[in-house]
Amino acid sequence: MNLNSPLTYIKGISNARAASLSAELGLHRLHDLLHYFPFRYIDRTKFYKITELIDNSSDVQVIGKVLDLKTVKQKRGSRLVARFQDETGIMELVWFKGHKWIKESIKINTPYIIYGKLNFFNGTFSMVHPEMDLVEDYKRKKQTKLQPVYSSTEKLINTGVSNKVFKGYVQNLLMQVFENIQETLSDDFRKTYQLLDKKQALLNIHFPNSPELLAKAQYRLKFEELFFIQLQLLRKKLIRKNKIKGYVFEHVGNHFNEFYNNHLPFDLTNAQKRVLKEIRKDVASHAHMNRLLQGDVGSGKTIVALLSMLLAIDNGFQATIMAPTEILATQHYNAINELLKDMNMSVELLTGSTKTKKRKEIHTSLENGELKILIGTHALLEDKVQFQNLGIAIIDEQHRFGVAQRSKMWKKNDLPPHILVMTATPIPRTLAMSVYGDLDISVIDELPPGRKEVKTVHRYDSNRLSVFKFMKQEIAKGRQVYVVYPLIQESEAMDYKDLMDGYESISREFPTPSYQISIVHGKMKADDKEFEMQRFVKGETQIMVATTVIEVGVNVPNASVMVIESAERFGLSQLHQLRGRVGRGADQSYCVLLSSFKLSSEAKTRLQTMVETSDGFKIAEVDLKLRGPGNIMGTQQSGVLNLKIADVVKDTPILTKARNAAIELLQDDSNLSKPENAAIQRTYSELAKRTGAWSNIS
Ligand code: ADP
Ligand code: MG
Repeated sequence: MNLNSPLTYIKGISNARAASLSAELGLHRLHDLLHYFPFRYIDRTKFYKITELIDNSSDVQVIGKVLDLKTVKQKRGSRLVARFQDETGIMELVWFKGHKWIKESIKINTPYIIYGKLNFFNGTFSMVHPEMDLVEDYKRKKQTKLQPVYSSTEKLINTGVSNKVFKGYVQNLLMQVFENIQETLSDDFRKTYQLLDKKQALLNIHFPNSPELLAKAQYRLKFEELFFIQLQLLRKKLIRKNKIKGYVFEHVGNHFNEFYNNHLPFDLTNAQKRVLKEIRKDVASHAHMNRLLQGDVGSGKTIVALLSMLLAIDNGFQATIMAPTEILATQHYNAINELLKDMNMSVELLTGSTKTKKRKEIHTSLENGELKILIGTHALLEDKVQFQNLGIAIIDEQHRFGVAQRSKMWKKNDLPPHILVMTATPIPRTLAMSVYGDLDISVIDELPPGRKEVKTVHRYDSNRLSVFKFMKQEIAKGRQVYVVYPLIQESEAMDYKDLMDGYESISREFPTPSYQISIVHGKMKADDKEFEMQRFVKGETQIMVATTVIEVGVNVPNASVMVIESAERFGLSQLHQLRGRVGRGADQSYCVLLSSFKLSSEAKTRLQTMVETSDGFKIAEVDLKLRGPGNIMGTQQSGVLNLKIADVVKDTPILTKARNAAIELLQDDSNLSKPENAAIQRTYSELAKRTGAWSNIS
């Protein structure tokens, strides 16, 4: 028997039961059951006397005897009730199912240990469907103190697979296969990282001999799990670096130098310089760059993108920026044009609303190589868009693009263009390691000098009038104001009504001609949107009423107030993005979070976090804790959600150690071909076979 055998090899598991274990819990092979770990443990050293019981619905165990059993009719069906007695008192045991079997198997007046959750009703304690062991058996079995509890489904429990039964399966399994359990890590490796051996780890994770051994078993299994994920990611990266060739941008040329020396509007921050060096090192190396650039809103990613593009152009290549929305693409186009205004450089914009004639011109100049920089939306991915020699593709706000789209872009060349993915939604570093562990990551962790922190307050709807008053004061100083409404797909109609109602009330409060208001939302035509945006950008309007279409990238340095309506309905990263729209100029900026009185505790945490910090990474950490990794972009493909025992959020220290261990191992033996790494190599290739599906995410 090996661990690939079906569950029916275990005593007590019939075909039917194996089928339901497979359907309900995804357990198919013995290996699966062996790695189906308890989700908690119960300390069964403590016994209670019936008179000591207190009404706190906890799990308890009591020693006593069943006096009698009777069936009690109820509205639907009946219940079986036993009187259970110890030397101090009497309680009840209750069954709603399986009466026949219970009646036949329970021995009256014989000592039992009962275990289960306590109920208190009409002055009597009771236990529903208790776990029962004859004291005699219990003693013989030499129970360990910590008992495993496995998560299960109602269906399984109702068909007789109680926790006790499940425990029995695992016990049988361990007895049968214990000697066949193979070590997956080498002895040296385990010694270096102080890891329990695999057999002991599996034994103690299911049936801990002591709390200390349980902790060691958990550590070992978590470490192992995270280690192999990191090993896969890092090897993939290594292979990409060695095998996939990239274009070489050998020299720093005229365009770069001219811009850098004569047209750079400010000094780069140290973080920007560092990131630029990292990029330059990549593109000069023959390897293919696949880099994620994380930088908080306003940290100055655009200039890094531009300088990277100039590097490509200096080496005879073209460059492109792809943005998720038309507004953002246009913003990039304007920003880049402005930066390059004193240089002779061809830059074009291609979006869904580019006119046919213009479109054709772009196609032609792109193919003959005259056009150097193309900025656009998804429209860049159309088949007609053919670069002569695309050297670098910069993708802004990566989470909006699917994997397929990225690879599509890449197919157009003989070599893949270097890829720089920019994101302003930082994900915590540790999660990034797991999700993007095979990418290189650069971080701009410093804001340009002179930025004032945006003062953030939380106000209730009832304070709206004072918020209006504040807006007027700021507008009187010459500032501009955003008022943003949520737009959630499920309640779109309602949301538009809110937006329009809000727009009306603001129009009443801020009447023309003293005040001018722009409004932008997703249902408007691109032209109209752009027109309204431009009025605001030019300072013709003082207030911009909008839905989250302004979420990404809009740059109006004179805007100093961000009012977010129904702020409790926004996610943390969205709030952070929105707040990033202000605080871009020299003036003190403000963010007002308006909400109703009724707030869930999660919403309270979100708003409070916004008030307390403006550090995007801290906010990302809180977001991760609130929502779990499943809701963070990129995690779905990465396998971190299928972790059996480790937790990417809670087990950060172990993750870091496991990653370093993987790095060290690969430095020493990049092919895992040394004899001492045979066990690791074997496990690695088995895993690689099974997880092949997500091995190509980038
Ligand atoms: P983001 O990272 O959000 O894309 P941007 O690139 O739009 O940020 O930069 C935000 C603002 O900061 C822009 O107005 C830009 O000109 C300015 N900026 C960028 N880098 C610097 C710097 N090193 N010094 C001063 N201002 C800078
Ligand atoms: Mg940006």
